[in-house]
Amino acid sequence: TEESAYRRAQFANLPGGAFFEGQWQTAELTLEVRDPEDGVLLGRVCTSTSQDVERAIGHIDRHLQADEWPLRARRQALEKAVLLLGEQAERFANIIAAESSKTITEAEREVRRCIETLRLSAAASEELAGETLGFEDSMAGAGKIGWYSRQPVGIVAAITPFNDPLNLVAHKLGPALIGGNGVVLKPSTRTPLTGLAFVRLLLEAGVPSGRIAAIVSGPGVSEAVVTDPRVDLISFTGGPATAERIAAAAGAKKILSELGGNNATIVCSDADAKAAAKAIVAGAFGVAGQNCLSVQRVYVHTSLFDEVLDLVTAGTKALRIGPKLDRGTDVGPLISEAEARRVEEWVEEAKAAGATVHAGGKRHNAYYEPTVLADVPSDAKVIAEEVFGPVVSILPFIEVRDAVFAANNTEYGLQAGIFTQSIDLALTVAEKLHVGAVVINETSDVRIDSMPFGGFKKSGVGREGVRHAVREMTEPKNTIINLG
Ligand code: NAD
Repeated sequence: TEESAYRRAQFANLPGGAFFEGQWQTAELTLEVRDPEDGVLLGRVCTSTSQDVERAIGHIDRHLQADEWPLRARRQALEKAVLLLGEQAERFANIIAAESSKTITEAEREVRRCIETLRLSAAASEELAGETLGFEDSMAGAGKIGWYSRQPVGIVAAITPFNDPLNLVAHKLGPALIGGNGVVLKPSTRTPLTGLAFVRLLLEAGVPSGRIAAIVSGPGVSEAVVTDPRVDLISFTGGPATAERIAAAAGAKKILSELGGNNATIVCSDADAKAAAKAIVAGAFGVAGQNCLSVQRVYVHTSLFDEVLDLVTAGTKALRIGPKLDRGTDVGPLISEAEARRVEEWVEEAKAAGATVHAGGKRHNAYYEPTVLADVPSDAKVIAEEVFGPVVSILPFIEVRDAVFAANNTEYGLQAGIFTQSIDLALTVAEKLHVGAVVINETSDVRIDSMPFGGFKKSGVGREGVRHAVREMTEPKNTIINLG
């Protein structure tokens, strides 16, 4: 059909394997990339080996030591990447919507976000300026002057998850490159095509081939990347269990990690119930709940509990699950049928412990219906662990301090939302929530790409958000002159 011919055209000439030593590589070991919606084979990608990693990192290391790539040229390459991604936006949206679980509308939004991330990365050249040091004002400073500037750490390894296969790659590569580093990308094996296509776009934009490599995970590859002594910093986004394995293998290297969330939203007695319910439905079920900022637990004051539960239930039932490329679809599949089965098991476990199902609760292959639960015991997995699927639990509270305690009673600390008309109450609660961002009169699901982004506790270490990542990926270096 015309539609499928069009789709095939989007996939023509995609990179079919790793990029390193200045070349696109081919190899025998291949990884099949399938559309999670229907299992259709989208392409085969050559995987890499630990010897490939050795060569890729060695090449970057030699170039970092030998070649100048001045800040102005770095900024210009990223500005060019902004233009190229604008031109290729439709193609990238199609690749994302095919290999990931995003609908075409969600994929298009991600491409627009990525353009912004690249624009912010180019502008972050200003972050490297440093400042003069106050020698004159110090007892030890007599007869000296000095300044500090920000220098690249060296080689950054970027390891990324499946759920934002483009923008989360850009959040690592943009800051690493403007900071003057070399970078090795290892995209998620579930969504490698987007990351590889993005690396090709950066090369087209003028990023020197000595500064960048992309590796597709094969046997021993992850370990080779994280243990290589020439890798100075690992920037990882994914789950906490993977982060712990990486940290155990990497030893004393600097590791930035953006991990999971188990995000709460508190709806106080004076809140606008309609506005809160609408935001909760949007925040819980975007990308079928596979979003680190997803709304998982909602604590509602008893006076509004029935109303909010009814409104959230009605809003959820109105969502259309369907094919990702259909513009009428609100909710697509999970990344795999195995993930949908896991979510199903967690909901069944909660039901067995007394939870009631108000909407959804059924699986269809890789799809899981947007699901609203109430009466969920606090030790059920859907409350105690990160669901990373389309399930939200609505829970009652009487005293706000109990809602705050419950919201904080998790290993995670990414973001939280609070709905109230009282600015006093909002700010008092905001102070007490142990999270990286508190959103007032919205849910946890709010992010702009320039804010310092990350979490407390198991939600990660360090911050992304372009300027903040540039600071993490560079070191201040003092230069001091003894005037004699
Ligand atoms: P994951 O941890 O399974 O995988 C992430 C990446 O790590 C993938 O590229 C994977 O191939 C790689 N990997 C797996 N084992 C490895 C190892 N031993 N060494 C090195 N790399 C290894 O995560 P996922 O399922 O792709 O993503 C979902 C998780 O990511 C959720 O927990 C979600 O909350 C989190 N996430 C966090 C943010 C954030 O910014 N805080 C954003 C998106 C996703």
